[in-house]
Amino acid sequence: MKTNILESILSLRATILDSGIRENTSLENRKNILRLNLFLSFALGVVIISLLFNFFNQLYFSAIINIAGTFLLTIAFFVNKDGHFNTAKRLGIMTLNVYLFVISYVEGLRSGQYLLFFPLLLALVFVIDIKKNAQEVISTSVVTLLTTVMIFIMAPYQNNLQKIPQDLYSGLFSTNLALALLLTSVFAYFILKTLETHEEKILEEKKLADTIFDTSLDAVFIVNASSLLITDCNIRALEVFSFPDKKRIIGQAVDKLLGHPVEEQIMSFRNNRFERNSPWYGNMDFVRENEVLFFAYVNIVPFQHQHDMYCKISILDITEIKIAEFEIIKAKEKAEKAALVKSRFLSNMSHELRTPLNAIIGTSNILLQEESLESQNEFLSVLKNSSEHMLQLVNDILDFSKLEAGKMELENSPFNLKEFLLSTVQPFQSNMNKSNVQLELEIDEELNLEITSDDMRLKQVLNNLLSNAKKFTEKGKITVIARQELVKDNSVVVYFAVKDTGIGISPAKTRQIFDSFTQADAETTRKYGGTGLGLAISKHIVEKMGGEIKVKSAPGAGSEFHFTVPLKIKKPGKNSAAEEIVRAPESIAGIRILLAEDNPVNMIVAKRFLEKWQVIVDEAVNGEKALELFNENAYDLLLIDLEMPLMDGAQAVSEIRKRNKTIPIVAFTAAVYDNMHNDLLEKGFTDFIPKPFRPEELRKKILQLTAYDQLQKFKYG
Ligand code: ADP
Repeated sequence: MKTNILESILSLRATILDSGIRENTSLENRKNILRLNLFLSFALGVVIISLLFNFFNQLYFSAIINIAGTFLLTIAFFVNKDGHFNTAKRLGIMTLNVYLFVISYVEGLRSGQYLLFFPLLLALVFVIDIKKNAQEVISTSVVTLLTTVMIFIMAPYQNNLQKIPQDLYSGLFSTNLALALLLTSVFAYFILKTLETHEEKILEEKKLADTIFDTSLDAVFIVNASSLLITDCNIRALEVFSFPDKKRIIGQAVDKLLGHPVEEQIMSFRNNRFERNSPWYGNMDFVRENEVLFFAYVNIVPFQHQHDMYCKISILDITEIKIAEFEIIKAKEKAEKAALVKSRFLSNMSHELRTPLNAIIGTSNILLQEESLESQNEFLSVLKNSSEHMLQLVNDILDFSKLEAGKMELENSPFNLKEFLLSTVQPFQSNMNKSNVQLELEIDEELNLEITSDDMRLKQVLNNLLSNAKKFTEKGKITVIARQELVKDNSVVVYFAVKDTGIGISPAKTRQIFDSFTQADAETTRKYGGTGLGLAISKHIVEKMGGEIKVKSAPGAGSEFHFTVPLKIKKPGKNSAAEEIVRAPESIAGIRILLAEDNPVNMIVAKRFLEKWQVIVDEAVNGEKALELFNENAYDLLLIDLEMPLMDGAQAVSEIRKRNKTIPIVAFTAAVYDNMHNDLLEKGFTDFIPKPFRPEELRKKILQLTAYDQLQKFKYG
């Protein structure tokens, strides 16, 4: 029971004192609201006690004034509760002033109501924050003093509005005196208490600020911006600069200790009159007391304190990070150098390997085409297939080195997409006729389109997917799908897929197989061979073309590799020439070609095929000889090797182009490099054939390039 009453009193006190405080009220405002509530509660206490006293002594006029006072102070309490602190404060102060004036006037000076002005003035100090609202303190004090003066001038000594017995005056005076004394002591107590807590708080805040200052990982200096002298620093500053104590630092000129750049920065703040107070930050280096240099991340923040301008300079020692950074840069440079050397080595090696391979493939082609013994055919096929496989490996390694060096560039040449797909699949079809696997083609009729893209690279991707499908499928079928997905403006989005019914890939491996040198498992290498480069290169090419390659597969359920790429449609109108070419003679018999080649094996191989097609061939073993022959004879086409002694292919072509701008000149080359097509066009070549050449490809190219002339001969004789 007792505790219940105590609890109710405590909760009532809390309700009254906290009235008007919300969750989001700042600490400062909480303090002010609390003070106002205290002030209003005491004032209400005074008027209510007076009211009771008045009723008891039948002073009804005074009672009405006390009721009005109670009413107005209650309103002030609720106005504050509603969140209007300032209005409530003003209403409270005004009410008390007016109340004291009226009650003094009605009861007369003898009743001693003016005594309550003293605690009221104290309350003002208490309610209004003197430091922040000096103007408000002055105006309120003036009003209060004026009211007091007016009371003493205007109020009568004794009441003349209501009847107050003589002996009651002494009762009124003692009540007012008691109330005034009580209120004075209460307010004095609260003021002292508040000041004490305030002081404690300041001390604590200072302690906290010192701790923050000294536990900072940054060396912090405070510099007076006018005198450019250091006024303070933290403990970390002593550690970082290896100073024994603050005495060595405080009072020093900033440029002497922290160098010119810091001083200049502070001066630039000063010159801007600290108007644009945005901090400066960046990297600088400093020298410690023991002459050791260190790197630092610095920020300089300007600020104002008691009419003086200061700068706070925070210095974070980043020497270790910098050293690590240097190491990383050095390691990166080293790695880049090594990658370049490796890339160059791979490129050179591939080139060196291509030349003998060229000879092996060429000669085995000749042997297979010419009458050879039946018993040798099988071995010759093995020889041809193995050397072609080896060439594929060399090409993959070369591509990989380019890919690593970020040097793989796409070229643009016009071709018919459907014809391209048929010719890509055709070698696989003829190869698989004898196996248990069927090769099917599903090509959209709409894809009979002339497009411009890098046909060699697109072919490389499809070849890769097809040879993988062939390698990993023992029975069933392989399907090549090409579908038109979208046609927009001048481009067509084409979906390509190679599907097989082979061994499949486990889900865990489907991501990894696109990484360089990664195969599904070690068993694959043992059983099927391969380098694990094909898919990595294909992925890179497809991405470069603007697509993404994906795989759908499960062990034993076959695999489907698919990608979608946008391809540019070649502007219509040029097809008629192609049609004419189709109608042109299919034979290249009788045309005259100048073949410049320094490698005797290559010369024999190329000449053998050309002569088989009844082409008249003139040989030149270097550029000079080629130029000489060109000046003496008329040719339909020139087939010129790039690397030759005395005068290389490019020099010879540049001389030839001075005399003849139209003759088709085909570069015959084992070198493969970036942007080769454009480079050769710039050098005056019409086209190129990479060595080792496929005989049919060489024949087609010659036919294509000489078709117009042939057509003229064919038409007009
Ligand atoms: P390589 O064929 O030279 O090993 P790839 O990069 O072309 O290199 O292929 C990587 C691996 O992906 C292969 O070793 C194989 O494990 C797996 N793989 C690729 N295509 C298929 C497929 N059609 N069926 C099953 N596994 C495949």
